Amino acid sequence: MPEETERLAADEAGITRAAELLASGALVAFPTETVYGLGADARNGLAVAGIYEAKGRPSFNPLITHVRDIGRAREIARFPEAVLPFIRNGWPAGLTLVVPLRERSGISSLVTAGLSTVAIRVPVWPPAKALLKAFGGPIAAPSANPSGRISSTTADHVMTGLNGRIAAVLDGGVSSAGIESTIIGLRDEEPVVLREGAFVVPDGVLRVTSPADASSHVDSPGQLASHYAPSGLVRMNARVAEPGEWHLGFGDIKGNATLSHDGDLREAAARLFAAFHEADARGVERIAVAPIPDHELGRAINDRLRRAAAPRPSPGHAGQRR
Ligand code: AMP
Ligand code: MG
Repeated sequence: MPEETERLAADEAGITRAAELLASGALVAFPTETVYGLGADARNGLAVAGIYEAKGRPSFNPLITHVRDIGRAREIARFPEAVLPFIRNGWPAGLTLVVPLRERSGISSLVTAGLSTVAIRVPVWPPAKALLKAFGGPIAAPSANPSGRISSTTADHVMTGLNGRIAAVLDGGVSSAGIESTIIGLRDEEPVVLREGAFVVPDGVLRVTSPADASSHVDSPGQLASHYAPSGLVRMNARVAEPGEWHLGFGDIKGNATLSHDGDLREAAARLFAAFHEADARGVERIAVAPIPDHELGRAINDRLRRAAAPRPSPGHAGQRR
């Protein structure tokens, strides 16, 4: 973890430095038209795990992937007919679309929390655009604030919350909107609002959640599944596998596959959803998972394991297949 957070001006030198840091797997906060984002290379699972570590987030929610333009967005995701009107005249300010993820998109499964959809946004704010251009790849970013605290609209806010926990902040002035992006997804091929925000939703688009938080609502039946869980039932804190169980190891406990041979929580977080998908691909019915220390990133890992270990409502609501 960096000792001191670099404060970079949003000029050529600052943008180049920020892009270099992102490419090295470090975390860089950057301004967008909504709020400051805490960015990591969306293709680098270890870097993305660092976001959770820096924010102290106790659970894995899917993150928004930021890209330079619609062309890059289409490389990562498919854009069904129903969402095309939103981006016909260019990507509007403050809008995030949740759309089907392409196979081999290269996006870390920690970014989508294992889902088959991805939240994508093209920022319009010049420093964000310049950073995306200089970096050249997709940037995963939630708001740049410690978990449970309010979003940052200036570099000073970011410093107050995250100084010493991230490599750098790109100072691009005050984020003009000051509220998060509007999130629009699809349900039965119809656009639905998952979170109200900076983009003004046209009349006629269904609102399916409260303005406050998409994640608290998308679990209910008929809504978009926001939590991917493997088909197999999970048993936690398993030092030894029982007959018929597929054993996911950690550290000294080897297992059939391991979340991290070295007992590294960041690596385990980066691999968690890929391991769930591997279990599904193998047709595993019961998954035993080695004990994961319940501190730092381990809390978020255990949170997700507990959800996967809990009794399921009914088949079909257990999670999305990819
Ligand atoms: P934040 O990054 O903190 O602004 O929050 C991103 C929001 O987008 C969270 O409420 C997520 O639950 C939501 N989100 C991101 N990806 C997806 C997805 N694939 N499906 C549904 N909701 C998503
Ligand atoms: Mg936030």
